[in-house]
Amino acid sequence: MTDSVSGTGDPDGSSGCFFCSIASGAAGVPLLVDGENVVAFRDIDPKAPTHVLVIPKRHYRDVVALAGAEPAVLAELVTVGGRIAGAEAASGPDAGEFRLVFNTGASVGQSVFHIHGHVLAGRPFGWPPG
Ligand code: AMP
Repeated sequence: MTDSVSGTGDPDGSSGCFFCSIASGAAGVPLLVDGENVVAFRDIDPKAPTHVLVIPKRHYRDVVALAGAEPAVLAELVTVGGRIAGAEAASGPDAGEFRLVFNTGASVGQSVFHIHGHVLAGRPFGWPPG
């Protein structure tokens, strides 16, 4: 079957996806969480003391696609993000608080087109984001 969007014959866009190879373990990136449907790993270029990416094992381009196809997996992803923040920012007045970011589209900063939630914690954050 040919992908109607890219014409590559790759219906879900996952071939050559590096985050798919992280999710499967093939990339050898250490996983903080290896769940039934999601995995979590540290961002290679952290923007906060805690900067963890949580991704579904199955490939979706962005959070809207995941929400439409597998809302329970999106809920699992959010729950895992909260658990990580609770574990890593465990003390002090901001304990357990975090920012969860889903960049959705290149113009707002998405550079990897396998949906990922950025779990950011451990310092104050400004608003609005840049
Ligand atoms: P975004 O710009 O929202 O698509 O986020 C992509 C994120 O993936 C960036 O924060 C990158 O630093 C991160 N990233 C890219 N490659 C890797 C990798 N091999 N391991 C961990 N994080 C990565």
